[in-house]
Amino acid sequence: MTSMEKSNYVAGEWVGSGDLSENRNPSDLDDLVGLYARASAQQTHDAIAAAKSALPAWSAASPQSRAEILERVGVELLARREELGALLSREEGKIISEGIGEVTRAAQLFKFYAQEALRVEGLAIASIRPGVRVEVRNEPVGVVGLITPWNFPIAIPAWKIAPALAFGNTVVFKPADLTPACGWALAEILSRSGLPAGVFNLVMGRGSVVGDIIARSSDVNAVSFTGSEATGRGIRTLVAERGGKIQQEMGGKSPLVVLDDANLENAVDCAIGGSVISTGQRCTSNTRIIATPGIYDALVEGMAARARKLVVGNALDPASQIGPVVDERQLSVNLRYIGIADGEGARRLCGGDVLDRPQRGFYLSPAVYADCTNDMVHVREEIFGPVVSVLKAADYEEALAIANDSDLGLSSGICTTSLKHAEDFKTRSTSGMVFVNLPTAGVDYHVPFGGRKASSYGPREQGRAAREFFTTSKTAYTNPL
Ligand code: NAD
Repeated sequence: MTSMEKSNYVAGEWVGSGDLSENRNPSDLDDLVGLYARASAQQTHDAIAAAKSALPAWSAASPQSRAEILERVGVELLARREELGALLSREEGKIISEGIGEVTRAAQLFKFYAQEALRVEGLAIASIRPGVRVEVRNEPVGVVGLITPWNFPIAIPAWKIAPALAFGNTVVFKPADLTPACGWALAEILSRSGLPAGVFNLVMGRGSVVGDIIARSSDVNAVSFTGSEATGRGIRTLVAERGGKIQQEMGGKSPLVVLDDANLENAVDCAIGGSVISTGQRCTSNTRIIATPGIYDALVEGMAARARKLVVGNALDPASQIGPVVDERQLSVNLRYIGIADGEGARRLCGGDVLDRPQRGFYLSPAVYADCTNDMVHVREEIFGPVVSVLKAADYEEALAIANDSDLGLSSGICTTSLKHAEDFKTRSTSGMVFVNLPTAGVDYHVPFGGRKASSYGPREQGRAAREFFTTSKTAYTNPL
């Protein structure tokens, strides 16, 4: 095994495999980030078995010991945020400041859930029968399978692993095959954190092998999945059929309504900052901008001017404002949708071109489309690239109707100085998260995160809401004789 080869972590041991995934830097294809072992079916079963046998002791471990371990992980992540942020940018392609920011967020999540480990509350309630006592307890849900996507390769694992461990569960974690380096680095930190063997297991590899086994195994009590809607649907069926618990966060096509009375500069900031930044590779991106007639032209012009100035380049270059697309497959998806948008009559104001840079990578200029309608394919479907579409609505009511006219409902936003419209939008939007005079991407970690409609399924993630998924309730009756 060379130092480039990274193994899986099963039952407290590092275990290699002959099947290695090449992790290449999308900013520079000559840069090999590492070779990551894809877990075999047997190794995945071993990880599940290890998590099952570690469960009784870990679920009975003192909250203080759990808190100390999680705090230790948070402290190390924070201390190494620049190094790990650079690793993240190398493997995923988001610019270095965002890479460091994401590692910082992962650290904050571990520190937050270190404290939450001490706050596993229950309820003592009077019985309807004299003399009987009733308690409602929150207990660990058991062995949890965590399946994550490539676009937030350390924050999403952190917001699943930290609460899972805090509430006494054992973990089988599968990062995205495309971005295993951050998941591996996090596993390496966890392996030195004082966790007993088997409490945390890392199984890298393909969804169709590793992920499928996690979804089907009756020894996995609960599955938390973030990824695409299509994959999510399949996993949901498998887990539900065997009676497992499931939580899912999936795609988005978030609307941002811009009313005539909006502050134009703020609206342009939100419309561009919430869409094409991060190469548009955020589930919460506001990719549908719906503007009323009095501001439409100025907004479109402002967005195009801003987008044209954005520097697309190597993610590790501090001058870059947008990094590359994550891989060749995603680049071809983006180009296919750009072709569809051109073909369905949307007006391309800028971008949508593949760019040459000194290093070989997947560079694409951010595309702004105007004169779009909500029935266009590129407006209805999630692209997951740096493409933003602007639509015109006659007034607030029509803008709201267009915003809500989507199968997806992750987040939504409105730019307005009208308190009346802001309040009404917060009430009538059919998304799980609503933003006023802010981009729809960019959330806090101590409050619930999640969408509605086809974007999400099951209990919310993050904040104190994570307890609902990672614990299960027991009602105890006592007759003290
Ligand atoms: P994906 O669905 O292709 O993969 C997600 C994970 O599922 C990966 O680990 C993958 O290996 C695994 N997987 C794939 N096939 C599987 C199978 N048959 N059984 C079990 N596991 C399987 O998604 P992606 O391309 O990695 O990520 C992009 C998608 O994620 C976008 O749709 C984006 O909107 C969504 N996303 C949503 C959120 C959110 O919180 N709502 C956050 C980030 C990303």
